[in-house]
Amino acid sequence: MRDLLVAAQTEESDCAREQTKAEQDVDQVRQRAARDQQRLDSGAVTSPKDLENLQREIVSLAKRQGDLEDVVLEVMERRESAQQRVAELTERVASVQSKIDDATARRDAAFEEIDAEAASVTKEREVVAGSVPADLLGLYDKLRRQQGGIGAAKLYQRTCQGCRQELSITDINEIRQAAPDTVVRCENCRRILVRTSDSGL
Ligand SMILES: [Zn+2]
Repeated sequence: MRDLLVAAQTEESDCAREQTKAEQDVDQVRQRAARDQQRLDSGAVTSPKDLENLQREIVSLAKRQGDLEDVVLEVMERRESAQQRVAELTERVASVQSKIDDATARRDAAFEEIDAEAASVTKEREVVAGSVPADLLGLYDKLRRQQGGIGAAKLYQRTCQGCRQELSITDINEIRQAAPDTVVRCENCRRILVRTSDSGL
């Protein structure tokens, strides 16, 4: 739309230049006709041939002036429609720009919210991480890097929520017998499994 606006503005200024030029042409012809008319009225020209030539020129200049005035009108019409396009496109550009501004403001506000949330979650994580034994935290971090950001998954109804695979009866039995503080892992994805009351054990 900005490109269209620039094109319309260029056309408008081209028309303005054309109009000035056409108006100057009209002025020149008008001045020459006025001079001829003065000479005619002054009575200084007496020869019938000269008088006839002068009169003929005045008539031809009037015709020429009329033609040039038509050109001026035609240019003015084109200029007016270019001005209308400029006004219309200016309005449309402004309207789209205000949508952009609005979206940008909402995006920035969302960024701010996300940053604040990230800061608070990071702090919470630090507290939790501080209470986890170093070797377990090391294992978790390693798995997290290897497994697309998820190092531990809930065991829900015998299914690992990390890889969505149902565990075999053998694995389930082993997990059942494991002490509550034993770190159990998914045989399929190797993630740490978090046991809860709905693990299906
Ligand atoms: Zn798994």
